[in-house]
Formats: sequence, structure tokens, C-alpha cells
Amino acid sequence: MYFRSLNGNSSKVNFETALKKGLADDGGLFFPEKISPLKKDFIENIENYSDIEIAYEVIKQFVGDSINETDLKNILSNTIDFDFPLIKLEKNIYSLELFHGPTLAFKDVGARFMANCLGYFNKNENKTNTVLVATSGDTGAAVANGFLKVKGTNVVILYPKNKVSEIQEIQLTTNGNNITALRVDGSFDDCQKIVKNAFVDKKINNKLNLTSANSINVARWLPQAFYYFYAFKKLKKKNLVFSVPSGNFGNICAGLIAMKLGLPIDHFIASTNSNDTIPRYFKSQVLNPKPTIQTISNAMDVSKPSNFIRIQEMLGDFKNLSYFMSSYSFDDNQTLAVVKKIYKKNKYILDPHGAIGYLGLNKYLVTNPKKIGVFLETAHPVKFSKHIEKTIKIKLDIPEKINKILLKKKKYIDIENYDDFRDKILSLKV
Ligand SMILES: *Cc1c(COP(=O)(O)O)cnc(C)c1O
Repeated sequence: MYFRSLNGNSSKVNFETALKKGLADDGGLFFPEKISPLKKDFIENIENYSDIEIAYEVIKQFVGDSINETDLKNILSNTIDFDFPLIKLEKNIYSLELFHGPTLAFKDVGARFMANCLGYFNKNENKTNTVLVATSGDTGAAVANGFLKVKGTNVVILYPKNKVSEIQEIQLTTNGNNITALRVDGSFDDCQKIVKNAFVDKKINNKLNLTSANSINVARWLPQAFYYFYAFKKLKKKNLVFSVPSGNFGNICAGLIAMKLGLPIDHFIASTNSNDTIPRYFKSQVLNPKPTIQTISNAMDVSKPSNFIRIQEMLGDFKNLSYFMSSYSFDDNQTLAVVKKIYKKNKYILDPHGAIGYLGLNKYLVTNPKKIGVFLETAHPVKFSKHIEKTIKIKLDIPEKINKILLKKKKYIDIENYDDFRDKILSLKV
């Protein structure tokens, strides 16, 4: 199995190289050369497989010869040691909770899988890779946690100053060891731009052996397909649709991979906050990103979703795209209003991202009432306790995983712009 560049001007590479490079030499995103559907028998009898066995069936064709079966299964059991509960809220509305991992957001699965794979590839090498990652809040924490003390890796996280929640910032800045946090005076898109520039900066690359751990990296992105299989395993229903709270569109794009692998999914709803580049695209067929807007669902404050090009690759022309996908946006007022409503009605506490997933699903079901809908609950509400507690007027319990780090001292380096970043990263002892 090989990956080709979506820019079409680089040679194809295997999984190991795609993981280590992050982006192809021509600057394009890697994409599987071929996606072979899984056996019908496996999908029909999915309840007989454990979560780790399912993960293995889903990922093995993409990993190919890069990792043997025994080692890949070991990596998967290190990756997946927590649950993905499916909670029924209404007759045809379910919440798939993806926040039971170590950093309380769905990105733990991709980050841990990638970290374990890179540790495996570097086992017998003296080389160190630097993982450079831009975060809108949750990626950085998941990547730091996954890569903490992994041999042959250093992690540099760029996060936007004053635009992540308090718990998110603590998770980003208190790891020490091989993790360095950079606080950037700008938005997530500014952080992402610095990362992209660094990748084509020869001097930085030569010194640091860069790889990325954003969802542009195939090892971060593809494992997210597991979630859709886990939901199906629990539901086993026809007419299934998924609403995915989307920012960089990696998670929803992994859902399309699940569909290409043969999972019976009828439709996807890409639910966004006020950063509505894609919902506007569905109306106008023009991609016209505006400056990023800061919202309370900050992990989705992205106005140029990197993975949309992969979605277009899979779904083709606009007619096909709109057959399989809809996209709606919701602002902060709508988000908090639905948090309040669902708490009152169902005693269920949504986080701001899951709330947007719920809103998108609800909107779609108005005109498609026969569908069975699952929205992805992508983060634990406590990560956004400031807004949630004010809205539903109760105090949220802080999980032990967070309590442990609350009193640690935050450590970060301030970054003003690309030149400042360049100076600082080149003088960093890594
Ligand atoms: C990252 C993130 C998202 C958006 O996921 P994408 O793959 O970037 O679309 C949604 N919710 C939460 C909580 C996140 O951390």
C-alpha cells in the first residue's frame, strides 16, 4: 500500500515514509493510492470483534508492510485502552463519546497511534525526529501526552495566545521532558502557517528532521476511522448518518474512509461554528476563507480546513459531494442555548463542540426524519467548564487526570512571528 501526493508531483511512499514526512515533497497531502473495501462478512458480524481487532482490520491495509501483524496489534492495544460509549438521547439521536482518553478529547487515538508507530520506527535508530504541531486547543495536549518520553522524538507545540481554555493550556505547557510549548501571538491559522513555512525551510528541516502531528499526517488521521466502526458495532442500524463537529475536517474525512471501507453510512453532516468556510461553500461552490473568528468551541476555530481537499478527492464533483454531505454552521449563542436545553431535557451535559454536532444533526433530521443520527461528542465538557458551568448553573467534577496537573507551573516560550520562531527554534537545544 502506497500513498501519493494530492499535488501529484512527488513519488509515492509507504506508510513509514508518509508518517515521517507528514507532507509530500511537493507540499501536497498524502492520500492512499487505493482503498479496498473490507469483507462484507466482517462488517455484518462486527459485534464478534473486539475494538482492537476492529482497529486492526481497518488500519492494516494502510500500514502495509511497514509494521508486521504482531507489532501492529501491540501498537493498537497501547492506543486503545479506553471506551467509546454510545449514549441514546432521543428516539433517533445518539451521542458517541470520544473523550474518555487521557487528555479528554477525541484526538488521543490518532496521537497515541502515531506516537507508538514513530517510537517503533525509531527503535533501532539514533536519529531524533521533531514533531512540530499547531493546535487550536486539543491536538497539542493529545500529541504531548502520546509522545511524552517516546524515544527518538521531540515535540514542539504552537498554540494561539489567549485562545485556548485554561485546562487546555495547562495540558499543553506542563509536560516538560521532550515537550516544548510555544505561545504564538496570533490565531490557530497563524500557528498552522508557521508550521507550513517551517516544513519548507531547509535550515530548520536539516537540523530537526521535522514531521507533523496534525491531521494532515496519515498516522494521525486514518485511525479516526475506528470511531465510526465502533458506533456501528453498537447500533447495527440502517439509515445511519453522522454529524461531526468539524474544524480542520480530519475526523469527518476519516468517516468517509470508513464509508469507502464498506461501512453502511448514508450521509455526513459537517457541523461548524462561526468559522463557516465549508457551509458557505455548500451554498456557493466557492471556497472563500475569511479571517478566523474566536469562538467557545475553540478547537474548531479554523477557517482553512486542510483536509477538505481529501474530502473532494473521495467524493469528486459537487453533485456527489452534496449527495453524501451537508454542512451547517452555528454561533456561540446557539451553542450555549442547546447546551442548556439538552441539560434540562435529558440531564446530559454537552461540551461546546458536541453541542454543534448535535445542532447539525438536529437540523438535518428535520428534513430527513427517518434517519438514525449519531453526533460525535469530541471533548469532555470540563475542558470548557467556564462556559458550561455558567450556562447550566452547576459545578462540574474535575476528573482525576486533570486534577493531577492543575497545580503544575506552566512553561512556554512566547513567539511573535515567523522570524522570531525561526531564531528560537534554531537555538533550541533539542
Ligand atoms: C480538533 C477538534 C475538533 C475538530 O476536528 P477536526 O478533525 O479538526 O475537524 C472538534 N472537536 C474537538 C473537541 C476537537 O478537539
